[in-house]
Amino acid sequence: MNFSLTAEHEMTRQMVREFAAREAASTIKEHDRAHQVNLDLLHRMAELGILGICIPARYGGAGMDYVCLGLACEELERVDSSLRVVMSVHVGLNSLGLLQWGTEVQKQRWLVPQARGDRYAAYALSEPGAGSDVAAIAATARREGDVYVLNGEKMWISLATVAHNFFVFAKTDPRADPPHQGISAFVVERDMPGVTTGDIHGKLGVRAGSTGWVNMADVAVPVENRIGEEGEGFKIAMSCLDNGRYTVAAGATGLIRACLEASVKYARERYTFGREIGRHQLIQQMVSHMARDYEMARLLYLRAAWLKNQGRRNTRETSQAKWFATEASFAAASDAVQIHGAYGYSDEYDVERYLRNAKGACIYEGSTQIHELIQAGYALGYREDRPLRCELPAYDEEEWQGGSNA
Ligand SMILES: Cc1cc2nc3c(=O)[nH]c(=O)nc-3n(C[C@H](O)[C@H](O)[C@H](O)COP(=O)(O)OP(=O)(O)OC[C@H]3O[C@@H](n4cnc5c(N)ncnc54)[C@H](O)[C@@H]3O)c2cc1C
Repeated sequence: MNFSLTAEHEMTRQMVREFAAREAASTIKEHDRAHQVNLDLLHRMAELGILGICIPARYGGAGMDYVCLGLACEELERVDSSLRVVMSVHVGLNSLGLLQWGTEVQKQRWLVPQARGDRYAAYALSEPGAGSDVAAIAATARREGDVYVLNGEKMWISLATVAHNFFVFAKTDPRADPPHQGISAFVVERDMPGVTTGDIHGKLGVRAGSTGWVNMADVAVPVENRIGEEGEGFKIAMSCLDNGRYTVAAGATGLIRACLEASVKYARERYTFGREIGRHQLIQQMVSHMARDYEMARLLYLRAAWLKNQGRRNTRETSQAKWFATEASFAAASDAVQIHGAYGYSDEYDVERYLRNAKGACIYEGSTQIHELIQAGYALGYREDRPLRCELPAYDEEEWQGGSNA
């Protein structure tokens, strides 16, 4: 067992940390207040190779491993949750899904520009009437010759008004029994006639991010845009979540660290009853929980990363990491606000933003309750993973860093 990071991991972490500190930290409050996406930061992430960090060089990426993806997410969310959300959908849910399930032609067409950051990508599964219950989606894809005609509305889609490419899930067989076997996956492009998008206003958190709806009215999607086989969409959607949830876990770990650092700083500055509040044992208890949970969350996501690097199935471990880290980040953010007293209740300090952002991650990519059900299923022997037709490729340094397409 080896707990140390390699020189490459350290370099990646340092690069993303510096980017976040120099370029994101100074603008996040302003964009969060204005409910505005900072597109300049996405361009910079593309330039730095972050948007294709763990995609092989031959597909336009930086050729780093899955640990680097997690470290990048941790560093981004330490400063700005909305940038980690970009990584979750653009890299985790979409690009890695293409790497896993796409044909060579599909990878060249969509993955290469996404990994370079020339095109942004989103993942459109949820609908107004279906979130946790994926098989209840109502969007349809009707085959007509060489195209599928897509109809339906996707809701709560991160990057809805920013992305160029959407990984869309729709029913090719609405009468399938069981219903999840009737779902198929498609790449829908923003400029296809019939696609319209908009942002949701009045969100609690991720205010510097785009979260919105994608409407499809008789969108003619060529058959070549179908990812995987007809009826394979549910499996594809779930395997994409194994990667998206990993980025959420790593990001939430960064948020715990942000809460810990802010709390320690404030606890050393603020005085009550003649001493730093950090000297009060009840404050120490909250800080100790953050310090413990940071280490636990970090170990859990790095274990999932190690499994991914080996090419081993990690649905259970990734779910554990996501479930633990997001709940712990919400608790840490709540305690961080408490430690800051009234000042924590204003946006003069960052901790109120941490609390608002942390709640979202307990809902998306499998709510806390869904992860509890998953984990209970494994523990009780009701659930087991079967091999997939296409598995996420194991990391191979030589292969991933060779053959640049950039
Ligand atoms: C900021 C944000 C970004 C998002 N980004 C995306 C995105 O990019 N793409 C995308 O497709 N979706 C996205 N979503 C949607 C997200 O995935 C869903 O909100 C989530 O899956 C939960 O679905 P729901 O909101 O419909 O809640 P529901 O499924 O209606 O659940 C409501 C409540 O019931 C609980 N519940 C449901 N079923 C059970 C059960 N069997 N047992 C016990 N409790 C249960 C849930 O935990 C929850 O507390 C995003 C959401 C948010 C808030």
